Amino acid sequence: MVEIVKEPEGYKGHGFFVTSLEKAVGLARKNSIWPLPFATSCCGIEFMATAAAHYDLGRFGAERLSFSPRQADLLMVMGTISKKMGPVLKQVFEQMAEPKWVLSVGACASSGGIFDTYSVLQGIDRVIPVDVYVPGCPPRPEQIIDGLMRIQELVHNEQFGRRSSPEYLKMLEGYGIK
Ligand code: SF4
Repeated sequence: MVEIVKEPEGYKGHGFFVTSLEKAVGLARKNSIWPLPFATSCCGIEFMATAAAHYDLGRFGAERLSFSPRQADLLMVMGTISKKMGPVLKQVFEQMAEPKWVLSVGACASSGGIFDTYSVLQGIDRVIPVDVYVPGCPPRPEQIIDGLMRIQELVHNEQFGRRSSPEYLKMLEGYGIK
């Protein structure tokens, strides 16, 4: 079933509708997310199930997966990330244009999971900022979709000035990202 999204808050009259540019852009962005799947292990398989016909990411306008960081606005990290892979993940994040969001899928990406070892990064938020965490080992597709919908809420309500605010720039600086 095709569902038409609800219009943002605004003023309606006979033959016209007025809203703010921020709300209109938020609505468009929210329903046209281009995810970059950064999948290294088993959670990636759950993502494949999430994107396939039964769960169908296309229902959220997010079926256009991008393997080029410059054409993606949502970095979905799924799987165990080794310390050696950390700089690669960071480089991918840096190559994405603003505005961009990060979804950490599963226990491994969020905290290292069961791999409390010398070689595994104990959470991707040690190298890049994360917007939403999805728990589970592995999370079911419903949980991944829930995470995506929470990202959609953030995208929908993002204010234009956020990415150039001193708080945001300071947070990036904390990660050594300019
Ligand atoms: S959280 Fe579990 S299922 Fe996901 S990558 Fe780690 S071990 Fe695999």
